[in-house]
This record gives sequence, structure tokens and C-alpha cells, in this order.
Amino acid sequence: MKIGVLALQGAVAEHAAAIKAVDAQPVIIKHAEELAEIDGLLLPGGESTAMRKLIDFLDLLEPLQKFAAVKPVFGTCAGLILLAKQIEGQDDAHIGAMNISVSRNSFGRQVDSFEASLPIENVAADFPAVFIRAPKIEAVSEGVKVLAKINGEIVCAQEGHLLGCSFHPELTTDVRLMEHFKQMIATSLLERNISV
Ligand code: GLN
Repeated sequence: MKIGVLALQGAVAEHAAAIKAVDAQPVIIKHAEELAEIDGLLLPGGESTAMRKLIDFLDLLEPLQKFAAVKPVFGTCAGLILLAKQIEGQDDAHIGAMNISVSRNSFGRQVDSFEASLPIENVAADFPAVFIRAPKIEAVSEGVKVLAKINGEIVCAQEGHLLGCSFHPELTTDVRLMEHFKQMIATSLLERNISV
């Protein structure tokens, strides 16, 4: 199984290591053509506004939208913002595939970064979640499953083949969330009748 990592900005090497750790093959994605060879895509954290500029510069927006319409995508932190259909206080979204509304930097003012032991449904009772100027999921539409909350705020959700979290799983050695994403890709391949 090949899992791409959008390599415009952010912790690309750490995500690639996590993909290897779950026995999948990481593929660095910088151009639209490269999307054809992967079974699922990871969108790393970083700065969503900077990533959007690079996405536009490289003509990647439409190819990413087409990919996310059919194949599994996992957005972490800024990657979650890229995936969301709505961004609070903004008219336009980016990839806009997942039926959630997010607000940026929403844990930023109280504490800039922090780590919490988080229960994630179907994934872990105690996931070490690292939050860095993290977004939160303000609202989810029907069909979106909330997987984790912290202090009542949604920080991890799944909608079919789309997964998003506010934190940075790649900054720890815990690969249980990546393992979950790998399972989502296997399910998607089966549903699309492609043998694993
Ligand atoms: N604050 C960043 C943004 O708005 C996200 C932070 C992160 O990815 N660690 O894009």
C-alpha cells in the first residue's frame, strides 16, 4: 500500500517514518501527476495559508479535490484546515472535502502548545496528542463521526474515507492513528474492488 505525504511544508519526514512503521510505503507528493500512484494521502501540519499559496502555485487544488472525492485523505492540524468545507471567518475553503467547520489557532491564546493523553474512539484510550496553535472543529454535519474531544471541543473526526485531527500524531512514536488510517485505505480499496 502506498501512502502519499503532501510535501509542501511541515513535518514530512516524521509522517513518512510513521507510514513505514505501519508497513506501508511512503510517497513524497509535490506534483499532481504523483497523486495517481498512491492509495491514500496525508496532509501534514504547518501553516494552512502558506500551504494554500504553494498549492495554487503548483496547480494542485483541483487535483487534490478530485483525489479527496474518491480516495482516503488524513489531514493533521493545518492539513485538517485544508480538508474542511468551512473555515470560520473566511468565505472560501481550500480543498473543502470534509463536512466540518473549523476555527484556526483556537487553542492558541490560552496555551500555545500542549500535550494531552486523549481517548480516540476505535483507536486508543490514551493517545499522546501534541497541540501546536491547533484548530478546533466547531461543527460537524450529518455523516461525520466525532472520534475525540478535549474539554468538550472536537479535535478528531472521520467522514467515510476522510479523517482529520487538530493535533500532530507524527511528533510522537505512537502510530495507532496511522494504523487506523491504513485500515480506512484498505476498506476503501475493497469498496472500489481493488485487491490489497
Ligand atoms: N495555525 C496553523 C494554521 O492555521 C496550524 C498549526 C499547525 O499545523 N500546527 O494553519
